[in-house]
Amino acid sequence: MAVEQLQSSMIACHQCDTLFNSPKIVDGQEAICTCCGTTLFVRKKNHINRTIAVSSAGLLFFPPAMILPIIGVGVSSAGIYNDASLIDCITLMINSGYYIIAFAVFIFTLAVPLVRLSAALYISICIKYNWLKPSLFTFFRSYHMLDTWSMIHVFFMGLIVSMYKLTSLAELSVDQGLVSLVLLLLCSTLVSITMDPHSIWDKLESEFG
Ligand SMILES: [Zn+2]
Repeated sequence: MAVEQLQSSMIACHQCDTLFNSPKIVDGQEAICTCCGTTLFVRKKNHINRTIAVSSAGLLFFPPAMILPIIGVGVSSAGIYNDASLIDCITLMINSGYYIIAFAVFIFTLAVPLVRLSAALYISICIKYNWLKPSLFTFFRSYHMLDTWSMIHVFFMGLIVSMYKLTSLAELSVDQGLVSLVLLLLCSTLVSITMDPHSIWDKLESEFG
């Protein structure tokens, strides 16, 4: 038991692998490796309230990002013009036989940001109001796995535009849905910046460790 407690209170520098007893620092301070000067971790200020604000904002952008047109597609010489929402874009890809790309766009542009924002909001609210339970460990670990994929949606946004350009040889314009989608993805990325995993792990470990 004593050995486990000792191990859990130690931290390794990810640059030089030096082991330290986990330093007690307050919000706004950072722990620095005394051997190589690398930042070990930072205690972010007001991280719970900021994460709640950013994740709530991101979730509010979700319905318009999905339903409103993201791209106006037209051929001016033929007098044809159509607006397409993200769902329309995914449907077009399916109808054109691009099943894997349609699935990937859906997962990484809609599903992953939605789950990440919901999970970040849930974890932050649980920590803020002290609704702590052991299942939060597993939940937070799963959230971290999603973090690995958090930036891939930028690639897929580019892919949507390229696909439309290539398949329809059309003129493109930006619509309200795209603005909502960009803001949604921005909030999804910002959650990684506002959230302080070290504080959350410490809180959970002090409660259940
Ligand atoms: Zn170091």
